[in-house]
Amino acid sequence: MRKPIIAGNWKMYKTAAEAKAFAEEVKTAVPSADKVDAVICAPALFLQGLVEAAENTHLKIGAQTMHEEKEGAFTGEISPVQLKDLGVEYVIIGHSERRQYFNETDETANNKVVSAFEHGLKPILCVGESLEQRDSGDTGNVVEAQVEKGVAQLSAEQVAELVIAYEPIWAIGTGKTATSEDANDVCGVIRNKIESLYDEETAGAIRIQYGGSVKPANIEELLNMEHIDGALVGGASLETESFLKLLEAG
Ligand code: PGA
Repeated sequence: MRKPIIAGNWKMYKTAAEAKAFAEEVKTAVPSADKVDAVICAPALFLQGLVEAAENTHLKIGAQTMHEEKEGAFTGEISPVQLKDLGVEYVIIGHSERRQYFNETDETANNKVVSAFEHGLKPILCVGESLEQRDSGDTGNVVEAQVEKGVAQLSAEQVAELVIAYEPIWAIGTGKTATSEDANDVCGVIRNKIESLYDEETAGAIRIQYGGSVKPANIEELLNMEHIDGALVGGASLETESFLKLLEAG
């Protein structure tokens, strides 16, 4: 069976003091890593402090993006080598906000996923359709194409370690969640796509999260679905109480 992975995406929220207080409060309450992978993806500024605070606990730390190169003249960017050096374990790649505001594409996401693996980080690749695409019945095609381009050049072993987050853009931060059936259907489409690109074993191993207005009230239903192996959570990961409740459901 696939182990659930619940990842908080803090986006551009919290101060250093707030990040530290959060980690201190949750770190001993995080369930065992045998049961669930519990990850906080924080602004880069707080990563070092969070890695230190989470040491010898079950809390894992992730970044929200990275540059694909290991070093270079890229003012303002952060490299996979720098993240790895700090002890960061996960990295979100190709979040829809990165695609919308920072010109990221399936190609740049793919380069970053490849680079993350190369440098020992675990990527969480985000895919998902817009409302317009959903309304015109294109969800399956859009998501399949994002997955196919996103995993290009990866080996089956790498794909088995990859996490894909299915996040319908219209459900992010809007309070609108896809129904668990709809979310499961699209996660199933993703798993089938992986099977057609690789094989059954790889498709059975890859973990697929749902993201978009996940909260304690709806997580259990989502996680009970066949193809949903976890959640990528924005708003509800900012408060210690709701983050811990999400983990308990995992
Ligand atoms: P949300 O964000 O849970 O606030 O909808 C999810 C995400 O963007 O990853």
